[in-house]
Amino acid sequence: MSTELDQRVRLAAFQWLRAQMDVHGDVLPRSILAEGFVFEGTRVPLLGPQGIFKPGLMTEAPLSITTIPGGPYDDSIGSGGALKYRYRGTDPAHPDNRGLRRAMQAQLPLVWFWRVQPGQYLAAFPVFIVGDHPQQLTFDVQVDDPVALAQPRETESFVSEDRAAIRREYVTAIVRRRVHQQAFRARVIEAYRTHCALCRLRHQELLDAAHITADTEATGEPVVSNGLSLCKLHHAAFDRHFLTVRPDYTVEVRRSILEETDGPMLIHGLQGLHDKPIYLPREVSLEPDRDRLEERYALFRAAT
Ligand SMILES: [Zn+2]
Repeated sequence: MSTELDQRVRLAAFQWLRAQMDVHGDVLPRSILAEGFVFEGTRVPLLGPQGIFKPGLMTEAPLSITTIPGGPYDDSIGSGGALKYRYRGTDPAHPDNRGLRRAMQAQLPLVWFWRVQPGQYLAAFPVFIVGDHPQQLTFDVQVDDPVALAQPRETESFVSEDRAAIRREYVTAIVRRRVHQQAFRARVIEAYRTHCALCRLRHQELLDAAHITADTEATGEPVVSNGLSLCKLHHAAFDRHFLTVRPDYTVEVRRSILEETDGPMLIHGLQGLHDKPIYLPREVSLEPDRDRLEERYALFRAAT
């Protein structure tokens, strides 16, 4: 039966995605997803030009949904509860929308892709359509733990349903946080035109968005002016107060580090940055917030 084939393709897609994330990390290039994998001799792409995607091999229901922030189907990931996915167009009976409805009725697992920057996608799976709102032209979506897929269908009891609901809420909250973090990272790195603000390294894979005011603080909002694009080394050095950025946008390296003697990484990677200006975004509004740097500088002084 085609249903059985669809199910096997779905599970193979999840497995393949997991393997890609082991290689590339959380954010995957679009080219790889569009190319997909080969299933029993047939190529299975993971996404297509439209938001709701069903590869030709599958007959029952879509395999993935995609969100492009700011695009025509900009789905608000919100701050709590289920995630929202917008219908394709305004016709609830459009084949794509009907496909998602079938996925909801049969509780079929899907993949959700978020574009965090052009050509770069964050994947969450398995996701389930858990609600349908024709008035608002949206579906409710929840993310589940992949481990749950491997377990036999839970029996229809209130206890297991409750447990599944709690687990999905929990996993959905984690994914929402990942999406926010990746979006912040993408915006910060873009503002610095893919450079480490300290050493100017230009490899996106080695860059992070460091928070100036920690995101655990109430005022640690994910705005670009609360971020610095830093390579892995300088991110860790900044977090551990090996060095800091003064409010005048110059680097200060901790005295004990300046007094150390060691090889080229210490000399060029850390000591050499002392008193040097940082690399800044072109747009003034995206520059690091000087008040935040002032607070950070006080923490640095207290720690060193
Ligand atoms: Zn660096």
